[in-house]
Amino acid sequence: MSRLFRSAADHAAGYRRSLPDRPVGVPIDQSALLDAFSGPLPSAPSPPEQVLADLLAAAGPGLVATAGPRYFGFVIGGALPAATAADILAAGWDQNAHNAVTSPAAIAAEAAAGAWLKDLLGIPPSASTGFVTGCQAANTVGLAAARHQVLADAGWDVERRGLLGAPPIRVIAGDERHATIDRSLRLLGLGTDVVEPVPAGPNGAIDLGSLRSLLRAGSPGPTIVALQAGNVNTGACDRLREACELIHRHGGWAHVDGAFGLWAAAGSATRHLVDGVELADSWACDGHKWLNLPYDSAFAFCARPDVHAAAMSYAAAYLVGSGGAPAGSELTVESSRRARGFAAWAGLRELGRDGVEALVDRCCALARRFADGLASAGFEVVNEVVLNQVLVAFGDDARTDEVVAAVQADGTCWAGGTTWRGRRLMRISVSNATTTEADVDRSIAAITRLAA
Ligand SMILES: *Cc1c(COP(=O)(O)O)cnc(C)c1O
Repeated sequence: MSRLFRSAADHAAGYRRSLPDRPVGVPIDQSALLDAFSGPLPSAPSPPEQVLADLLAAAGPGLVATAGPRYFGFVIGGALPAATAADILAAGWDQNAHNAVTSPAAIAAEAAAGAWLKDLLGIPPSASTGFVTGCQAANTVGLAAARHQVLADAGWDVERRGLLGAPPIRVIAGDERHATIDRSLRLLGLGTDVVEPVPAGPNGAIDLGSLRSLLRAGSPGPTIVALQAGNVNTGACDRLREACELIHRHGGWAHVDGAFGLWAAAGSATRHLVDGVELADSWACDGHKWLNLPYDSAFAFCARPDVHAAAMSYAAAYLVGSGGAPAGSELTVESSRRARGFAAWAGLRELGRDGVEALVDRCCALARRFADGLASAGFEVVNEVVLNQVLVAFGDDARTDEVVAAVQADGTCWAGGTTWRGRRLMRISVSNATTTEADVDRSIAAITRLAA
């Protein structure tokens, strides 16, 4: 087993080493990839070494250098060395992070990492932390806690009685919310038609005056507001202090989708963007994006651990609770769970407080450098670059799409396209811990050359 595991780790390390130099995008031949993986299920067992060799051969041509320094697509992030090594151990140890009976170590790591995360993100230390797969799951958990509490306030036990016959719930969310909010609302039985949209201001944060009018206009009663830190196009953050105060004055629950934007709290130049973050009732944040933890990793925080557990935990005769604070799968949608706390703990420990701050500051400065460089080259930067996101137009929609396609085919760097406020744009996200100024300059040069 040692030889086998070492070989897998060596391949992973070799792949990582190659990232700065390999073409970032790959020409995708999905059917060839499928062919390489396909064939009848062998009836006989295979030696593990052979299986590993076959996997390397089949997967190699289809790997995308998303973990590398010049991948600026979506909001992806890389994977820190210690966090990756910890994740390799999590697989090797094969721990079930269900609770402190199935893995005391995994639950302890989650408790320690949860405390560090709350400290860095400006979330009250008394909040609970569920370690989930992604911000989709974190939004679902946060909104489930919200659903529990606003209905409990109205005298309705939603976990027992469901939503049939329940008092109606108002859900208010920004026009430019992330699409996962809508899927969470679907999963929670609230549906997407329930959303009362708040118009966005100039840079994509909600307009506070509109939120105030909406809250005033409706009848008081169960109300959930989904706020956002980090607009997925512009990086803009809702003004959390004013928004939370308004929401609470109306007896509502404030949830913050801060998949990447909550990390503004850890940066010296961006902290003010999430002023008042501590006032919210629940928060969703990714580990696999800006914190550079390996996939998959995210956190669902709730100001009220009892509410968090009331929404998510279940009882079964064969389960023995730890008797302590709610933990593990009492705070998540998953029952049996990968031990994600090891990688989170290791990544935070590897960076330290200063390292996390430097990571956030550096990515924001590099996004600024991208914007300045492309503007100097004569292109239009469309958003106010407040965080790590840059939106660029290269002319009309067709021309911008052409440039995005050319950049993706070229392989120097990778950036995606998006539609924002009716315009096609290139979207650049700087979220990787290994990206340098030289990477940005090389990417600006390539984009400029291709646009010409
Ligand atoms: C990425 C993102 C999500 C979804 O997160 P996953 O990790 O993909 O589940 C939700 N909200 C925002 C603002 C995001 O950027």
